[in-house]
Amino acid sequence: MIIAVRFRAFNSLFPHVCMLCDQRCESNSNIDLCEYCRDALPWIRHACHRCAEPLPLDAIDSRVCLTCAKNPPPFARTIAPLRLESYPRHWVHQLKYGAGLAEGRLLGTLLADHLTKTYRPEELPDYLVPVPLSWLRLAARGHNQAVIIAIPIQRTLHIPLLRTAMIRKGHVASQQQLSRYARLKNLRGIFVAQREFSGETIAVVDDVMTTGATAAAIASALLAAGAGSVHIWCPTRTLLS
Ligand SMILES: [Zn+2]
Ligand SMILES: [Zn+2]
Repeated sequence: MIIAVRFRAFNSLFPHVCMLCDQRCESNSNIDLCEYCRDALPWIRHACHRCAEPLPLDAIDSRVCLTCAKNPPPFARTIAPLRLESYPRHWVHQLKYGAGLAEGRLLGTLLADHLTKTYRPEELPDYLVPVPLSWLRLAARGHNQAVIIAIPIQRTLHIPLLRTAMIRKGHVASQQQLSRYARLKNLRGIFVAQREFSGETIAVVDDVMTTGATAAAIASALLAAGAGSVHIWCPTRTLLS
């Protein structure tokens, strides 16, 4: 009770303001965006349940896209609610290549909030696993952006975060210009589980879903280590079409 009163008093003295427009945010929200700026983000409204690629207008009643129907990926579900453009693109860039911790926290909080509206509590995965960086990239960057995004999810959904469950062997050069096939070939055998699982559902956390090659590689490694099912959770998605 005393803590709640102190928190309200603190909030009235130091109300948190929107990162984009400096307006005051809702007092009960932990997201540093006002309602208007949050609604104006490039949300993907109807997406494939399996890979999060937006569904065409004539297929919005379908659960999966044609690609996943023909050739299902090793992960069972993907949540990636924002298109990688405008502000989300800037935030991901800041998180990866700048200091960007506030942007990473914002992306993780937006994703956590979306997940609470998307999953029923009994459907939630058992563990969070961030996509690991190679030691070389981690040393150069100083932080793993997937861990920064996973922390608000861990706190909001109370799912244990296994930071060291997977390692990334060796160093793969930037994959940005590569096709999905080239990425898949590049990533073969690169993720190695450091523990065994016994049928649990794992949510893999990353900053952006692009071709799905990284997601497929890490999902396959987790399934080989005994996971029952793998979900992919990223705040943003690049669009393939
Ligand atoms: Zn705003
Ligand atoms: Zn799909």
